[in-house]
Amino acid sequence: MKPNSHNAISTTSVKDHDLPAYTVRISDRAKYVSLSLSMETGLEVVIPCNYDHRKIPELIQQKREWIARNQRKLHEREAFLQSQDPHLLPDSLNLRSLQQQWQIEYIPTASKGIQIKENKSISKLMISGNVNDIHACKFFLKKWLMKLAEGHICSRLKQVSKRINLPYNSVTIRSQKTLWGSCSGKKNISLNYKLLFLEPHVVDYVLIHELCHTVYMNHSDQFWRLVSKFQPQYKEIDKSLNQAWKIVPAWLEP
Ligand SMILES: [Zn+2]
Repeated sequence: MKPNSHNAISTTSVKDHDLPAYTVRISDRAKYVSLSLSMETGLEVVIPCNYDHRKIPELIQQKREWIARNQRKLHEREAFLQSQDPHLLPDSLNLRSLQQQWQIEYIPTASKGIQIKENKSISKLMISGNVNDIHACKFFLKKWLMKLAEGHICSRLKQVSKRINLPYNSVTIRSQKTLWGSCSGKKNISLNYKLLFLEPHVVDYVLIHELCHTVYMNHSDQFWRLVSKFQPQYKEIDKSLNQAWKIVPAWLEP
């Protein structure tokens, strides 16, 4: 949930014998140096423009424990994804945020395309057509989920924004591997459609977190004070988000 970093002006890859490999990104918005770790970019050091590069190796050295712990988590995630068969299609969807459990039925027909029909009253999705085309089925299921998120998550954001009186400019639903949400300096919020799989109070926390970034574009003490005003249990919930990827179904990963 790091604030978005469209204003990054350069990235450099660094290799040092004793240190884990990392990239350095100079951000004209960053006030402090920060570290992040993700499957997409690996270890990244984000530094303000005027930061002295020579201090970075020492910083990495100091943060080694944190880096090792989080690298372990990432590897766990990868192992978990590999242990699940991503080629299998799901027969149900547990959309915790909506407290809905959808059943999925696949109906093979002579048609070359794929059709999705929903029966809301019994929470059932019927996918018909060339259902042997797993790739196509996944594509349409994901599309269905994105649309659902656009309705549900966006209207929830609107409600929460009103309740805590923190307005935003726009909201976009996206598909990201490791980010639950982000907020730009222009108060444009992006949210991951996979939030549909998380508990409602966790989703609300993500929304509160991003809305508080409309006031503070960092994770300063002031920022967390503002978050705690709207969600006093933010620490536990934020921690639980690290584990939350485990309940996002593996078939959604490319
Ligand atoms: Zn954040």
